[in-house]
Amino acid sequence: MDTNYDLTIVGAGIAGLWCAWLARRSGMAVRVVERGSEALTAGCSWRAGGMLAPEVEAETAEPVVTVLGRRSLALWQAHFPQLVTMQGTLLLPPRRDPAQLNRFRRQTEGWEEADADRVVALEPVLEGHHGRGLYYPVEGHVDPRAVLPAMVAALQADGVTFEWEAALAPEAAGGPCLDCRGLDAADALPDLRGVKGEMLLIRTPDLALARPVRLLHPRHPIYVVPREGNVFMIGATTVESGGRAGVTVRGAGELLTQAYAVHPAFGEAEVLEMNAGLRPAFPDNRPRLSRRGAVVHVNGLYRHGYLLAPAMAERALAALQGGPVELE
Ligand SMILES: Cc1cc2nc3c(=O)[nH]c(=O)nc-3n(C[C@H](O)[C@H](O)[C@H](O)COP(=O)(O)OP(=O)(O)OC[C@H]3O[C@@H](n4cnc5c(N)ncnc54)[C@H](O)[C@@H]3O)c2cc1C
Repeated sequence: MDTNYDLTIVGAGIAGLWCAWLARRSGMAVRVVERGSEALTAGCSWRAGGMLAPEVEAETAEPVVTVLGRRSLALWQAHFPQLVTMQGTLLLPPRRDPAQLNRFRRQTEGWEEADADRVVALEPVLEGHHGRGLYYPVEGHVDPRAVLPAMVAALQADGVTFEWEAALAPEAAGGPCLDCRGLDAADALPDLRGVKGEMLLIRTPDLALARPVRLLHPRHPIYVVPREGNVFMIGATTVESGGRAGVTVRGAGELLTQAYAVHPAFGEAEVLEMNAGLRPAFPDNRPRLSRRGAVVHVNGLYRHGYLLAPAMAERALAALQGGPVELE
């Protein structure tokens, strides 16, 4: 262990950066070791939509995701208010299938009815294209490609050391260590798997959205997340790909077709990027902390890395001091 540091964090994805941030806030001397370069493109975090949606996600996710997600939303707003847009989420069923909304009415909280007029009041460009939906006012979103470099800059300004293009085995840190290697931690966590998510970045000056819009197609649900510069992130497929990355023709086709269903003007948009990430997930798709000697593993963030990272970091630091690893 380099005696200059109280804590080593392996991995500079969203989990590692939040752990570093809260550890530094508590007064620790921290180093972050990242296998990739300063471009920060190496991990799953680069490819994410950045939705902070603890309520909508409750439709499929375990209750622990909602509990930690609500806590994380508060931490995002307290620590990085300039990076978070709090405009809620708009959920829309396909035109001829309004029954889809009933499932969300039953299985989630924090929604408000949005009739056609309200949908247009929230997102004027959707006029004439959709009927009623549900609006979740207390949700937010971030742009991962703004968040990652901003957090690194804030950490460096606060005295945290980054070692780039340096792969480290957590047990070789020789002292207290948080293992935030995402899918690469499968050597220590053998039941970890990668669930592929394909995404697109498109640009069109013809549309403006204030918030993520989710289209509840029964087989191919998608979302559109607005970003700066008339850019929209279209996501995401969920594919048990056996660890195979890369965008397939099928995945790209589904995303493009459903984007067009959100608004026909997306048909004229310029495709900037097609990409895919492998979400680190355990068999139960729940996040997990585990401890082995001086190492605490922070993993299984699956579809919810941005949503869960702040609260997971809080719990991980407590676990490092001997607190429980159980999340509930
Ligand atoms: C298409 C898509 C859309 C998504 N949308 C959302 C969303 O809207 N909201 C949300 O909350 N989540 C979303 N997610 C999920 C989210 O992206 C992941 O849960 C999250 O990125 C996982 O973060 P992580 O830090 O655990 O892993 P990673 O981001 O993969 O980071 C791990 C890091 O560890 C580094 N590393 C690995 N091994 C070593 C080593 N030996 N030494 C040093 N460094 C190492 C890697 O290079 C990498 O940078 C989405 C995912 C995908 C694919």
